[in-house]
Amino acid sequence: MSILVSIIILAALAASARWTWWREKTPGLRVLCYHKIGVAPAGSKLKELWISPEKFRAQVKYLLDHGYATLLFSDLLKAWRGEAVLPEKAVVITFDDGYENNYLHAWPILKELGAKGNIFVVYNTIGKVNSWHNPASEGWVNMATLAQLKEMQDSGVIEYGSHTMNHPHLSALKPGDAAWEMAESKRQLEAAFGREMFAFAYPYGDGAYIPALRETALETGYVFDFSFRQGKTPWPWDRKATTLDRLFIRGGDNIWDLVLQLERGASRL
Ligand SMILES: [Zn+2]
Repeated sequence: MSILVSIIILAALAASARWTWWREKTPGLRVLCYHKIGVAPAGSKLKELWISPEKFRAQVKYLLDHGYATLLFSDLLKAWRGEAVLPEKAVVITFDDGYENNYLHAWPILKELGAKGNIFVVYNTIGKVNSWHNPASEGWVNMATLAQLKEMQDSGVIEYGSHTMNHPHLSALKPGDAAWEMAESKRQLEAAFGREMFAFAYPYGDGAYIPALRETALETGYVFDFSFRQGKTPWPWDRKATTLDRLFIRGGDNIWDLVLQLERGASRL
């Protein structure tokens, strides 16, 4: 075998490891998971959680150009209750934590292009910083203020769910404290936004697979609980059996990653 052929074969193998085009297409609900829209600050060790506004715009544009319907949590609730049919190409765009950069960069793009999104808010950090991170590895940035969050809600482009009071590792807390994080954030966010909070995301995905914690989340009154597991969730959803999984968009992803995630539930090994 010539050196050139060997190089081509090796390159093809490397590309097939990086982009899992060979994975089977899977049916199910697509929930995209974003965190920060903007440019990662120098020294960030969580750069993959930052998506540039240009990339975000291209991703939303891809969805709309290819017939995807972007749902609000309330749209998903109607489908879950059987009051509406889930569009075949439904996608739920979610953002964890509630950063100000969602207001500055994501919301204007969604609004301009005519798409919808949903944010999981950490109640006690509204208008403050992401103080649950160790600033040595991920610098503190501003969280959206209550006024900014309300402005986004009033636009009809964004809806909210709970991401607890303080963004703890739920499994590290006493059961009573974990229950309080879930229930108190629901109560406070409902008072702040004048809407029912029926969607919940476990910080770090922690607790999503601990039956007692998951039971607490569902008993608290959350209809939907979102995990940190990569993939699509079969629809109709078996709520008792499993959380809703998500498709993680990383800073280094390109459109091909998005396409593979939407169709096959993952783009990487
Ligand atoms: Zn989070």
